[in-house]
Amino acid sequence: MSITLKCIEEFNFYIPTKVVFKIEGLKEIKSYTLGKKPFIVTGKSSSRKNGALEFVSECFPNGVIFDEVEENPSTETCDKGSKLCRKEGCDWVICIGGGSPIDAGKCIAGLATNEGICDNYFGRDLFKNSPLPILAIPTTAGTGSEVTPYAVITDRKANTKKTVADTGIFPKVALLDPTLTLTMSREVTLSTALDALSQCMEGVVSKKSTPITDALALEGCKVLRRYLPLLLNNLHDVKIRAMVMYASLLSGIVIAHTGTTLVHALGYYYTLNYSIPHGIANALFLIPMFKRNHKYLPEKVRMLFYAISEDLSLSDNGNIECALKNFFEEIGFSYKAQDWGVENTRFHEFAESLFNDSYRFRNQYGSFDVNELKEIFEESYSGK
Ligand code: NAP
Repeated sequence: MSITLKCIEEFNFYIPTKVVFKIEGLKEIKSYTLGKKPFIVTGKSSSRKNGALEFVSECFPNGVIFDEVEENPSTETCDKGSKLCRKEGCDWVICIGGGSPIDAGKCIAGLATNEGICDNYFGRDLFKNSPLPILAIPTTAGTGSEVTPYAVITDRKANTKKTVADTGIFPKVALLDPTLTLTMSREVTLSTALDALSQCMEGVVSKKSTPITDALALEGCKVLRRYLPLLLNNLHDVKIRAMVMYASLLSGIVIAHTGTTLVHALGYYYTLNYSIPHGIANALFLIPMFKRNHKYLPEKVRMLFYAISEDLSLSDNGNIECALKNFFEEIGFSYKAQDWGVENTRFHEFAESLFNDSYRFRNQYGSFDVNELKEIFEESYSGK
């Protein structure tokens, strides 16, 4: 058997966020106070329903609540929030919710100390002044936004999602309390966990992957492979919730270094045009994209196969497509976009738009023309 000698030449690793992972950890929130008057950013209903918002506002009675964050938050919401944050003189930000309120809160923290509007800050490290310090409290398990320097915001005028990437918006503290995820429905649990899977898988094949991110990403895939099926049959089991939240955290640390790849770029078309939840939209592209990633990075895709496959007898011959299909069938996820309300009438338009957006290819190996991108949409649509 031949041995491939792997040579590690160079990599960086940086995560400035203090991670506090604890079942019922929210009770200790006051230990993580980052200022005098918090601006509390959350979504429209779930943090009220599960009591998290009430608890946090009791702990910080002078806090100002901004509970208008929609799914896939818009530039307008961030601008509105930052105006209020400045007017109220808040000096730190608490984000409670899924990736949407956490991203909006991170963006607001940057806008509150800098001139101008959200539109001016799409790009990397554009905030001149330090953003307000951020405490992020995730209530979904999938985005890992609590440990990334990104805020993904919807530009409604351009009908696309763009990223504010700034080292200053890494949360100072990420407080992960798995009990907060207990109220997620089966649908939100599935969608968010698939986002974590997608982030881990994409991290492994990103041009920016490192030995450390590979290790974390493969661990994330293995944890999801084992615990997501269990969780979907035991939604109220906090210990299983904790495992999936751990995988989500890993996926965030991974993409903080590797960024995402074409899977995410493709998924945005489904989310913005057919309202497909973010994690589902990504997962609908995993099979078509990883078939292709295998051509460029066979060893890495094989490592992912081992992390995701239950069948190590190799009856499916190391085929990532089979491994993903088996996993998706086990968790009751249809990988055919047609089953999620996607229509197949605009794939050429989407393919052209994506092809012309070179930024979306920055971390992706391989070359893709319009025809191939259209084929990827078609394969995702039919599941073939
Ligand atoms: P989300 O959009 O934050 O939330 C989805 C839905 O779940 C909302 O209706 C929300 O309610 C509800 N929800 C949240 N927590 C809940 C709980 N504990 N119990 C019941 N319902 C709950 O979903 P997400 O998947 O977590 O975040 C997706 C966003 O994150 C996308 O915009 C994506 O682009 C972004 N993202 C960012 C990063 C990053 O590094 N910055 C990484 C990955 C993804 P409410 O309406 O009350 O909020």
